[in-house]
Amino acid sequence: MASLSLEHINKTYPNGFEAVKDFNLEIEDKEFIIFVGPSGCGKSTTLRMIAGLEEISGGTLKIGDKVMNDVEPKDRDIAMVFQNYALYPHMTVYDNMAFGLKLRKVPKDQIDKQVREAARILDLEKLLDRKPKALSGGQRQRVAMGRAIVRNPKVFLMDEPLSNLDAKLRVQMRIEISKIHQRLGATIIYVTHDQTEAMTLGTRIVVMKDGVVQQVDTPQNLYQKPGNLFVAGFMGSPQMNFLDAEIKENGSDLVAKIGNDEVVIPAEKAKVLKDKGYVGKTVVMGIRPEDVADSANGSMSSIVKVYELLGAEVFLYFDVNGTQITARVDPRTTAKTGDPISFDFDMDKAHFFDKETELVIT
Ligand code: ATP
Repeated sequence: MASLSLEHINKTYPNGFEAVKDFNLEIEDKEFIIFVGPSGCGKSTTLRMIAGLEEISGGTLKIGDKVMNDVEPKDRDIAMVFQNYALYPHMTVYDNMAFGLKLRKVPKDQIDKQVREAARILDLEKLLDRKPKALSGGQRQRVAMGRAIVRNPKVFLMDEPLSNLDAKLRVQMRIEISKIHQRLGATIIYVTHDQTEAMTLGTRIVVMKDGVVQQVDTPQNLYQKPGNLFVAGFMGSPQMNFLDAEIKENGSDLVAKIGNDEVVIPAEKAKVLKDKGYVGKTVVMGIRPEDVADSANGSMSSIVKVYELLGAEVFLYFDVNGTQITARVDPRTTAKTGDPISFDFDMDKAHFFDKETELVIT
């Protein structure tokens, strides 16, 4: 069983910098866990502590039910794939994959079996005699993964393995990695700063900021039920729109007053806002670009500042009460830069956050 448990993990570097603070996570066997967050949030440090490449300052790391804090990296039954997947240029693909096993004095026929099995999984069988310089970037990355796979580890750790590839190849390799995960049935922990990669690959995602875990959830829940402003803004591209909104009663309705406009808050959300004492207060309202619809008789209006056609969809940028927002609309829209536009928010999809704590209200 390749379950992992991180209990109250802390990392303070020798210079006193606290890079990871009270990190808690239970990872189940065969999960594909993503650590995501902006540069410097501590995701690589956490991964390196799991690998044993960085000392754990506090807390307990378990693999299965064995405490691993002080176990040598080579004895952790873990394989790591880095973004700089330096292959040995003078060796063939076969020898690159076999190298680690040879060092471990694994019998030759056993090595052959493992290399060929990894090559099959990675679709490298026809390339085993080539040297790295005769491979594409994606093929090289697959060989780098092959070196990890041949060892048949319980856990794979991957630190931005696709960041050196161009955009198109990244998408291809993303799909490859998903397939590899299914075929291997292994536990994978994968670090990226790219929220699209996180959303598409992970069974669960850990969102980090400043060394602190912000939320751990499935991709869908993170997107639909972000726990705070940071997660709401980080997950999703283009990002969620945020507007200051005053919560007011208007007859029997509860409304969000944004500048001079008032939009009715659906009953369920209205009840939560009322019960939690937000009537009369200003909160942050979040609305995703796809939940802003342009329509001939929308209840709010503005002027299109920028029109962007991306093929299957159009992004419109315009100001609402002094804040620029993005609408993701149908490419058949007639709106163009400089045009007046009327629009509505799909308020069932709106999110409300406390302005001070930045935590979600509803
Ligand atoms: P990136 O996406 O840029 O790699 P990251 O989230 O992986 O970022 P880490 O590499 O884990 O971030 O670094 C977390 C923080 O710890 C950063 O602020 C970094 O400057 C700091 N840090 C990393 N290594 C050391 C070190 N050896 N000594 C002191 N501080 C360090």
